[in-house]
Amino acid sequence: MMQDKHYLMIPGPTPVPPAVAAAMSRPMIGHRTDDFAAMHKRIVERLRVVFQTGNDIFILTNSGTGGMEAAVANTVSPGDRVLALVTGNFGERFARIAREYGAEVDEVHFGWGNCVDLKAVEEKLSSARYKVVLATQNETSTGVVNDIAGIGALVGKTSALLLVDGISGVGGIEIKMDEWNVDVLVTASQKALMLPPGLAMVAVSPKAWEVVAGNKSPRFYLSLPAAKKACEKWNTAYTPAVSLFAGLDAALEMMMAEGMDNVYARHMLMARATRAAVRALGLEQLAPEEAASPVVTAVKSPAGVDGDDIRKVLRKEYGVTFAGGQGILKGKIFRIAHMGFADKMDVIIAISALEMALARIGQPVDLGSGVRAAQKVFLGGNE
Ligand code: PMP
Repeated sequence: MMQDKHYLMIPGPTPVPPAVAAAMSRPMIGHRTDDFAAMHKRIVERLRVVFQTGNDIFILTNSGTGGMEAAVANTVSPGDRVLALVTGNFGERFARIAREYGAEVDEVHFGWGNCVDLKAVEEKLSSARYKVVLATQNETSTGVVNDIAGIGALVGKTSALLLVDGISGVGGIEIKMDEWNVDVLVTASQKALMLPPGLAMVAVSPKAWEVVAGNKSPRFYLSLPAAKKACEKWNTAYTPAVSLFAGLDAALEMMMAEGMDNVYARHMLMARATRAAVRALGLEQLAPEEAASPVVTAVKSPAGVDGDDIRKVLRKEYGVTFAGGQGILKGKIFRIAHMGFADKMDVIIAISALEMALARIGQPVDLGSGVRAAQKVFLGGNE
């Protein structure tokens, strides 16, 4: 196979656009300079457009999980009651972090492949007084998107804070932090924001700040008050990943030029085409249609086939990388990302490679039928 011809179609890290790669290769600048401060300010102002918020946003040099830990460490004290709304691997992780910080975690698991059921949330919220509610916007492990607006409407009526892991959603799926009563919103660089891994962004509402100040959990590197103090001068508390900031600046410039509505519509169109193709190939998607993610599609492996065997052929013979199943779904699904720097022809490549891989492992497949279904969606026809 040709060297260096790869199609990375996993839900993070995602492909990096040339303009972003170029920005990251610029000469280093000091992080206590006017140039850095100007860039930092511009980034935060644009992130506010993406988050649809007027809140403080901090950019931390760590992966997404560090952002989740920052959210918890600054709002959860030992003994606090926390409600964790879990729909898969990353919801479980959020709950686990809260437990590590000594919280009494009420974990409601809606099942791998299902979305959060608002009725259950309403019941839980009326049964006990929670300090914090944890939710995942886009459950990457199952390709399920949760109704953050609905959850926020319920949590907003209580004194609890709503912490949202938007790591694989923000920038690809619309979120309205302020309107939807999200108190802490976390995302990371290597997903829809089209950067390499290494940055997490954490936005904090006024309601959350009231809790953050008096919180009793230990925090140093992840201290939000320290981040806030530094940010007053568009500084960071510790040395930031300067190159990733430069990349983020370029990525946000691209997103603003495209227009966020168009960014979201592009992701939804790619997702629709992918799902139509999967159906046309006689395969089944994991998520219910109404909660299917715009940025990643989880597909059930055909009966008797290990999804990882399909992925091996895809990688070795066609240079295409899909993600596998995590946790209890290992081998049972594969996941096709259409996230970030991706457009129509990436979907066509993914589906056409999938058709060939299925044929190569001896599965019955009507070559071209998936591609045709995707093409029809792109041409605006009926699926
Ligand atoms: N939450 C979600 C929804 C994710 O998709 C991921 C990364 N796949 C994480 C959390 C963890 O982020 P990181 O690997 O950057 O720590």
